[in-house]
Amino acid sequence: MDQRVIEKIVAEVISRLQGSAAKERTIPIAVSARHCHLSQHDLEALFGAGYELTKKKDLSQPGQFAANETITIVGPRGSLENVRILGPARSLTQVEVSRTDAVKLGSKPPLRQSGDINGSAPITLVGPKGSIYKKAGLIIAQAHIHMSPDDAAEFAVNNGEYVSVEVGGQRPVTFGNVLIRVSPRYQLEMHVDTDEANATWIEGNTCGRIRKQKDRDHLVPLETGIETPPPFPAETAKESARILEKAKTSIFSGLLTQRDVQNCLNDELVVDKQTIITPLARDTAREMGISIKMIETKGAKK
Ligand SMILES: [Zn+2]
Repeated sequence: MDQRVIEKIVAEVISRLQGSAAKERTIPIAVSARHCHLSQHDLEALFGAGYELTKKKDLSQPGQFAANETITIVGPRGSLENVRILGPARSLTQVEVSRTDAVKLGSKPPLRQSGDINGSAPITLVGPKGSIYKKAGLIIAQAHIHMSPDDAAEFAVNNGEYVSVEVGGQRPVTFGNVLIRVSPRYQLEMHVDTDEANATWIEGNTCGRIRKQKDRDHLVPLETGIETPPPFPAETAKESARILEKAKTSIFSGLLTQRDVQNCLNDELVVDKQTIITPLARDTAREMGISIKMIETKGAKK
């Protein structure tokens, strides 16, 4: 018999012997990778007028889906490609990343509940048909539990309450300040980001146990202790817009490298006839389905 099956049976027998512990309902934990929600207005700015998202797969919360479409997000120090869009379109554009992602972007997004983006960090979004700079919208999502009113009654918790969640396994952790979100539309599930999941070894069917948060008054309120994000320097915003514009439209001359090809946002790269194209750039272009078009120019700038 599989070792895991044996362990499961042993655990069940022990918990039955212990009585009430067997009855405790656990919370399935799901991991939210970096993703974004777009307003219809922003969706069209990135993908073209009248654009509608196409569904890749349904998510556990009813009506929510992962779209086939992805975008690139750009911060002051770096960018992240293939950021999944979750549908349907919302009233406000919001990008959710982990703290590790934020370091890569060079941004300092605050820890927030989904939807609470006022004064959050700025971010530039790049799609196939355009790019937009959002003054706010980048957050790190607060760990939370979706549940129905029946579940809330069962766990004796209220919407907006913060609880602790114990997670066992080979690296047990107790999460604090986990927000309870109640709606008749919700299915019981806790959502953590990839940093939290990796730190706790959360995979497949990991579950947690709700604990009332002790000494709640002693907890640092959510909004304190968080550094306010520094203002996004205008030059940085302009610079990222310039780089993106160049990647989209410029005519290359001199030397075309693999990096230039990787930065290309179109399916065609226009280069001056005199341009030296590295073999790696050529291979990468082929792999990415980007055609290289040679044209005659006078004094094209790299
Ligand atoms: Zn959620």
